[in-house]
Amino acid sequence: MAVIFEKVALIGLGLIASSMAHAMRQRGLATTITGYARSAETRAVAMELGFCDAVFDSAAEAVAGADLVVLAVPVGAMETVAKEIGPFLKPGATITDVGSVKQAVIEAVAPHIPPRAHFIPSHPLAGTEHSGPRSGFATLFENRWWLLTPLPGTNPAAVARLRGFYEAMGAYVDEMDAAHHDLVLAVTSHTPHLIAYTMVGVADDLRRVTDSEVIKYSAAGFRDFTRIAASDPTMWRDVFLNNKDATLEILGRFTEELFALQRAIRKGDGAHLHEYFTRTRAIRRSIIQAGQDTAAADFGRGATPAAPVDIPKKP
Ligand code: NAP
Repeated sequence: MAVIFEKVALIGLGLIASSMAHAMRQRGLATTITGYARSAETRAVAMELGFCDAVFDSAAEAVAGADLVVLAVPVGAMETVAKEIGPFLKPGATITDVGSVKQAVIEAVAPHIPPRAHFIPSHPLAGTEHSGPRSGFATLFENRWWLLTPLPGTNPAAVARLRGFYEAMGAYVDEMDAAHHDLVLAVTSHTPHLIAYTMVGVADDLRRVTDSEVIKYSAAGFRDFTRIAASDPTMWRDVFLNNKDATLEILGRFTEELFALQRAIRKGDGAHLHEYFTRTRAIRRSIIQAGQDTAAADFGRGATPAAPVDIPKKP
């Protein structure tokens, strides 16, 4: 494939940034990739794995001469890095971020981007429960959606170029406004994560009674919650702190539905439960039909039992 941005600077070198670098390398989308990470350890891993041509211990140095700058740090750290790079951006450069929340990131980043650069916020709907520079892989974005939330008045050619770049990584691209993005993601990602965290927390309490049975028999549904609840604590803390209104709105609705189901169970209303579960099953099928998950019974995971892990005691 053809080079789309000559020089790309990655600010933050974790799962998303390293996956982007691997994809760019594999598909020949950039000539030079520079990077910045706050820890020396992450910088060393990026060089060891070779997904950056050069890494720097300041974001300002990493963005010098870059045609595309990607902010790939937790949402709560976006403002600090934007402030640092603002004065060093090349005229005509495109700046994007990959944060899971859009309105708060726009408020934090946009004031620091000079008019000579194009700020186009974005969010890849792709990820795993792993984090850090070793967790990235080139195919992460293939057949996944990448949402753009451009601000009114953004240069259409710059938006089209970024869209083409993500498409060249194998993603499908859509555009929407930031507020709508945050509401959609509260339903599809943020609230489900909170529910998974809660369910695993409940089981953690129960574990004191049933000892290892919760872990031993986890394949019966609980295991899928634990995968989600293993996601990076910093990233998810920042998601909830920065998508407060939409998450609370969806949690309110969730609670109402939960009470309705609770009431149906108490009253023995089997018809209500059956009708409800039939609708939810259809949603699962439509996600598989849309190619956004696999129908494999174990979600692609092997059945080999792993060695037991020590779980920190609850305070
Ligand atoms: P990650 O693997 O944990 O990597 C985060 C990177 O940001 C690391 O290089 C880390 O540096 C750096 N960093 C952390 N805190 C920082 C701070 N206060 N100041 C400067 N740098 C800091 O995270 P990720 O999964 O790639 O997520 C990056 C962004 O993508 C987040 O905004 C997240 O919301 C979004 N996102 C994540 C997913 C997902 O499933 N993981 C999916 C879509 C979007 P060190 O390594 O040196 O600590």
